[in-house]
Amino acid sequence: MKSTSALLFASTMLLAAPAAAAGPNVVVSIKPIHSLVASIMQGVGEPSLIVEGAASPHTYNMKPSNASALQAAKVVFWVGPGLEAFLDKPLDALSDGAKVVELSDAPGIEKLKFREGGAFEAHDDEDHGDEGHGEEGHKHAESEAEHDHAAAPEAAGAEEGHDHDHDHGHGDTDMHMWLDPMNAKAMAAEIEKTLAEADPDNADAYRANLEALNKRLDALDAKLTETVAPVKDKPFVVFHDAYQYFEHRYKVRVAGSITVSPEVLPGAERLSEIHAKIRELGATCVFAEPQFEPKLINVVIEGTPAKSGTLDPEAGTLDAGPDLYFRMMEGIGTSLKTCLASAS
Ligand SMILES: [Zn+2]
Repeated sequence: MKSTSALLFASTMLLAAPAAAAGPNVVVSIKPIHSLVASIMQGVGEPSLIVEGAASPHTYNMKPSNASALQAAKVVFWVGPGLEAFLDKPLDALSDGAKVVELSDAPGIEKLKFREGGAFEAHDDEDHGDEGHGEEGHKHAESEAEHDHAAAPEAAGAEEGHDHDHDHGHGDTDMHMWLDPMNAKAMAAEIEKTLAEADPDNADAYRANLEALNKRLDALDAKLTETVAPVKDKPFVVFHDAYQYFEHRYKVRVAGSITVSPEVLPGAERLSEIHAKIRELGATCVFAEPQFEPKLINVVIEGTPAKSGTLDPEAGTLDAGPDLYFRMMEGIGTSLKTCLASAS
């Protein structure tokens, strides 16, 4: 008797547990955005993530499991065309049942254009733009320029890009907008609004989580301002031009980037240009990223007084979840401070 009722009790618990935790089926493209969605869904459910682990959104290829997750999704959050190029076609093919939210278009987002000129301009003259670059970033450039957002800053380039009829108009917008906590707040508000509409039963929870997240983002903002204050005037070079939003918010001095888009690896000519630029600007630190070749950084700092560090703007080294966004941003602030403070 005893064991039967214990068993019944246990099986009731097993049935009850997943039902209590079942929120709407939400799929998110990349880790930093996933972290914001996970914060807002806390206590309701967990969103699933497409670009997992150390993978880079710039070089990602869809897996069959990603396609089935998208097919089952009620809501999909992504930054937008120009960042997660691998999602352009799968999202077009999605059924009308799924709500797809492009967070780069959230109200209140401050957008910055890709910068051009000086050490940021990775493209050569349009006539010989392919010289010295890897094949990958260019293979779609001629035939599918209108869909090839990821390669747009490099392959379509500033001069040519304007001639194309860009459906989405994102060709010259820097899509790394999550690297400003104020933009993260704008995204969070849009995430909360979307989830409350898709899942009204849990609207109160989403609202409370948004309020808590906003407070945390304000505290992060204050902390980052303080962290980078002592090293604000020291110029540095980054691997890919992802930091404009961070720079704009905290007034640090990014002097140049090694490549505009990480899917287009710099050639020898580009590396020697950067090497010269580091000397000329007196850049004190050059920052690699975990997904990309540290060898390249050593090549460009060789024979200069610059030091090297690592920044992780797409959180490749961090575990997904509500805390990831905060660890990523604090990590950028701390890495900048540590390297720049140690350099003369
Ligand atoms: Zn990036």
